[in-house]
Amino acid sequence: MKTSKNYKFWFATGSQDLYGDECLADVAKHSKIIVDAMNQSGVLPFEVVWKPTLITNELIRRTFNEANSDEECAGVITWMHTFSPAKSWILGLQEYRKPLMHLHTQFNMEIPYDSIDMDFMNENQSAHGDREYGHIVSRMGIERKVIVGYWNDPAVLSRIAGWMRTAIGQMESSHIRVVRFADNMRNVAVTDGDKVEAQIKFGWEIDAYPVNEVVDYVKSVSQGEINALLDEYYEKYTMLYEGRDPEEFKRHVAVQAGIEIGFEKFLTEKNYQAVVTHFGDLGGLQQLPGLAIQRLMEKGYGFGGEGDWKTAAMVRLMKIMSAGVKDAKGTSFMEDYTYNLVPGKQGILQAHMLEVCPTVSDGPIGIKVTPLSMGDREAPARLVFTSKTGPGIAASLIDLGPRFRLIVNEVDCKKVDKPMPKLPVATAFWTPQPNLETGAEAWILAGGAHHTAFSYDLTAGQMEDWAAAMGIECILINNNTDIRNLKNELRWNQAYYR
Ligand code: MN
Repeated sequence: MKTSKNYKFWFATGSQDLYGDECLADVAKHSKIIVDAMNQSGVLPFEVVWKPTLITNELIRRTFNEANSDEECAGVITWMHTFSPAKSWILGLQEYRKPLMHLHTQFNMEIPYDSIDMDFMNENQSAHGDREYGHIVSRMGIERKVIVGYWNDPAVLSRIAGWMRTAIGQMESSHIRVVRFADNMRNVAVTDGDKVEAQIKFGWEIDAYPVNEVVDYVKSVSQGEINALLDEYYEKYTMLYEGRDPEEFKRHVAVQAGIEIGFEKFLTEKNYQAVVTHFGDLGGLQQLPGLAIQRLMEKGYGFGGEGDWKTAAMVRLMKIMSAGVKDAKGTSFMEDYTYNLVPGKQGILQAHMLEVCPTVSDGPIGIKVTPLSMGDREAPARLVFTSKTGPGIAASLIDLGPRFRLIVNEVDCKKVDKPMPKLPVATAFWTPQPNLETGAEAWILAGGAHHTAFSYDLTAGQMEDWAAAMGIECILINNNTDIRNLKNELRWNQAYYR
């Protein structure tokens, strides 16, 4: 899945001209060594570009403005090798509009006990210079990520990698365009919201089209295109006939192939990266898009059911942020469906009517054709599978009226005890942290939705940083959650986020 640009991050080292040319030459040399090591580490998902040492107000201001206008620059990593008087940074920081990271590191790992003198102290005073710089960024109220540690430590590099993905989420958010083929489901509250405010806050464009405009695209798909895609389905997936006639079964699957191709043509032609449908508003579609939507999500499109454009945009956003993660386990639209309340085995069965992304699947994927228990269309074909185990995060963006809140729950994905042969949908099963009782209580108190954007490949911290960068509240629910503290946090946030 491609982002809209070939993003890079700039590395800007701060100093001043008080220490002489020899010191400044060392500063430049050291920061180049750091940048080279970062690029060669294989840990960072994006290239780091070295920039000449920033020593004057003019140069700092010019560099930040160049970063603003460079389309490929996704953020600036700043580090003060020596002291750098922070008033010099005010104008540049004031005019800078992209993600900012403060890497609080030091070129040498260990104090050089035998040789250390005052020249060394002056040249290597990040502990001192980074505090001066951090002060002004805090005083100016600028949101930034601070990462502390030795630059070549794998843990530090991995934190930088995680932040880079958050920064890409910040940059790419304003390139997300959601197409709504149906309005919000009647009378449903949590999936609805203020689309104008969403564009102001997140940059999302959220447009509606009559569903029959995409139906025209579906109807114009040729039989040849459908047959070619059917061949791919039949090669890739196991057909689970369950007593259905194979020819009749294939006709149902072919409808989804037509929907996949027609929808994708529409989305590509009109430049949308996320889509919402509604089982009750299907116009001329023969089936609720199931398999078709699952395959589109696998290709990187966001999706939300029943007109849920907020979750569709979040799924797209989280797919962008996790794109290219090594050994990725998947990102999907999900819905809290039903509980297992057996002591010691508590958890939430996750599914949707049909639309769970196959990137989260574990093992073989089958196709089933089964009637929907809702709506008035023919039995849709869908991909069925169970999902991977391990930690993940479930995110819900809600509109509280005057503002948005992001709720993120760290969850532990598990296998259910037994197969569920009569359940014709893809599923996941997880126990929310810290446990089902507290996790669900916290989720409900925070106002979280039944729809979520779920990922195995992002951390709650990355989502929290993204929310902070967007200027919205983020409530984390994890092993540290305590209901009394959470209720106070919600109260206090209500005063802060107005
Ligand atoms: Mn739903």
